Amino acid sequence: MEKNFTQFIEELIQQIGEKHVYTDEERREAYNFDGTDYRYLPEAVVEPATTEQISKLMKLATKYKIAVIPRGTGTGLSGGALATNGGVILSFLKMNKIIEIDEVNMTARVQPGLINLHLHEALAEKGLYYPPDPASYDTSSIGGNIAEDAGGPHCYKYGTTRDYILGMEVVLPNGEIIRTGVKTRKGVVGYDLNNLIISSEGTLGIVTEAVLRLIPLPQNIMTMLVFFPNIENVIASMTGFSKNRIVPGTMEFMDKACVDLLRGRIQFTIPDETQVLMIIELDGESSEIEKQMETAGEICFENEAFDVFLADSSHKRQGLWDVRRSFREIIKETVKYKRAEDVVVPISKIPELLAGNYAIAEKYDFVSYNYGHLGDGNVHANMTNMVKNDDVIRRGHHAFKEVFELTLNLGGTISGEHGIGITKKPYLGMELSEESIRIQKEIKKIFDPLNILNPGKIFD
Ligand SMILES: Cc1cc2nc3c(=O)[nH]c(=O)nc-3n(C[C@H](O)[C@H](O)[C@H](O)COP(=O)(O)OP(=O)(O)OC[C@H]3O[C@@H](n4cnc5c(N)ncnc54)[C@H](O)[C@@H]3O)c2cc1C
Repeated sequence: MEKNFTQFIEELIQQIGEKHVYTDEERREAYNFDGTDYRYLPEAVVEPATTEQISKLMKLATKYKIAVIPRGTGTGLSGGALATNGGVILSFLKMNKIIEIDEVNMTARVQPGLINLHLHEALAEKGLYYPPDPASYDTSSIGGNIAEDAGGPHCYKYGTTRDYILGMEVVLPNGEIIRTGVKTRKGVVGYDLNNLIISSEGTLGIVTEAVLRLIPLPQNIMTMLVFFPNIENVIASMTGFSKNRIVPGTMEFMDKACVDLLRGRIQFTIPDETQVLMIIELDGESSEIEKQMETAGEICFENEAFDVFLADSSHKRQGLWDVRRSFREIIKETVKYKRAEDVVVPISKIPELLAGNYAIAEKYDFVSYNYGHLGDGNVHANMTNMVKNDDVIRRGHHAFKEVFELTLNLGGTISGEHGIGITKKPYLGMELSEESIRIQKEIKKIFDPLNILNPGKIFD
């Protein structure tokens, strides 16, 4: 350890106590990964229990110019929580509580390390609901969800994390503690720092507490599986839903390559000719959604669906979602190389995006798997190969550059929810103008003039 770093650690231990500071190899290795394939060993790990301890950490990091990398539970898919430049991993393992659920004002005050699923469970007991539910909701943290503005299957109807964060307590890189946003349902005082911090990938401030907006838990949920001959019929069905004032809670899809992997893993028989599978979920008042489900099914059949199945037991529904939520791992198990990006296009352009992805995959000798949050136009585009070597990785880079070009030409964006981190840094300039990047770098400098908070993420 360098002398400067040793002094920093000694002083940190004096100020916040040795049970919050770790430099042993085992603990550092436990924090060397995230949801990407990259590995970076931090020089130390800090697991504070209070905001004040985080403030002290940042004041010392400022004094010694040490990099601090906030980390939720490390499920991020763009490398945001990796210690790419050494430094200290700041873990929220000991700050994972629900501080308060306010049933009158329909808000919850939570710590950043809280696992999203634990919040869902606690709220359900009180008939309340926090809709953002990334597919990783049983493992990812609210702090990580805020830093990435996580989406999820139910964000089509209800919006993303951003729409449910009323206010936050934030520790700035210099150690000062501020409050952003409000605790009320409305508030427009000053610039919107709340929304600036949300999705800033832990580069502007450290979220130490959040006030969340809640809604009533839907009375009932019905889930339907539909098998289609092509994506155009799926889009036509979606248009049919909105014309009939049906707003599903979820509209997820999987293309043929995914469907073929799914056979035998779910309790439904998939028709052989299926090219696209849709998971449609309606939530609300029981009699109302039963009627809507019937109409939705009719619309799907009018648009040439092969079959429509109702997941008519909670067991079947759970089984379906378990498979959907772990689909990333299911693909991974069957190939040697897998790279995925989460592009978004207007829904009407999805057929063109998929056709383009298949053509790009063929050009670079990949198999393309596409699935995701169809209602949001958010496609998890995967390129896979049975071999992994430098050449395949290089081809993957070229292939995704073309996928991003196509996405942008179709009026889309290169990331709907996974963020830029380190993995999409090389492509940032494809979407943002030089002037936009310059302004964003200036904002980073205002918050973090020494570049100590999560340096090297989003831009260099
Ligand atoms: C199987 C799987 C499925 C997934 N599905 C989805 C999905 O449906 N939708 C979706 O949006 N994402 C999805 N993801 C990606 C990932 O789960 C989300 O980005 C999630 O929000 C990350 O949370 P985390 O706690 O793991 O954060 P981490 O990976 O630990 O960190 C992510 C970023 O947040 C920053 N950060 C963490 N905590 C704080 C804090 N308190 N203050 C400031 N910055 C902080 C980190 O510095 C980093 O930049 C999926 C990932 C996996 C592995």
